[in-house]
Amino acid sequence: MNAHSLDNYERPELIPPEPGTKLLMHSCCAPCAGEVLAAVKASGIDVTVFFYNPNIHPQAEYEMRKAEDTRYCEELGIPHIDGDYDTDNWFDRIRGLEDEPERGRRCTVCFDMRFERTALFAAEHGYHMISSTLGISRWKNMAQINEAGVRATSRYPEVTYWTLNWRKKGGAARMIEIAKREAFYQQEYCGCVYSLRDTNKHRREMGRERIQKGVKFYGREAVKSPVPSSGRGEYPWLKQPADGSES
Ligand code: SF4
Repeated sequence: MNAHSLDNYERPELIPPEPGTKLLMHSCCAPCAGEVLAAVKASGIDVTVFFYNPNIHPQAEYEMRKAEDTRYCEELGIPHIDGDYDTDNWFDRIRGLEDEPERGRRCTVCFDMRFERTALFAAEHGYHMISSTLGISRWKNMAQINEAGVRATSRYPEVTYWTLNWRKKGGAARMIEIAKREAFYQQEYCGCVYSLRDTNKHRREMGRERIQKGVKFYGREAVKSPVPSSGRGEYPWLKQPADGSES
């Protein structure tokens, strides 16, 4: 039996702003998507995931986060749409904001870009509601995310941005339980090359080691030695259980 059961958690039913319509959910990563998608599914909402995160650097890290997100959607039976990894556009939009702090103007532009593409896809494919898993992270500014979402959908009168605070009513606690239950890959920086730089700088100042990408999983010890390549791409240890056995 999995130690990380949700039996002791009560999850309230969600009432979306556009009941009965299809939801296109922008997903940033599996740990944030865990509780958000489970809650949406449990409330009987027709949901499709849109993975569009050209901010994530380097590409191997992007592939790893996407693979975890895809795996979880397959488990829940949720369609998963793979957006472009158009990093050139991301760097173009961010130019001049490289030294902004997290939650500053660079992040606003980053959210705008991701939500604009999500809203466009929604408008072109008959979705009337979008939202994002980004908002459940305690590292993010909820108002900054919601404002970007509303801004993106304001171009399409038929599309609404759902501004629910996913952290409330136990959402934040369930997020951690699901991440441990699923042993999701645990990234240690927001995603872009600048957040990687700044997190490592902070760690250096605190006397801590630099980030080691691809080795930490929720609820498990860090995997110190990657197993030999088994066709899983640049992160061959992806999905490798802590005891070394193949699942
Ligand atoms: S810190 Fe995160 S939200 Fe901000 S620009 Fe970088 S990837 Fe985007």
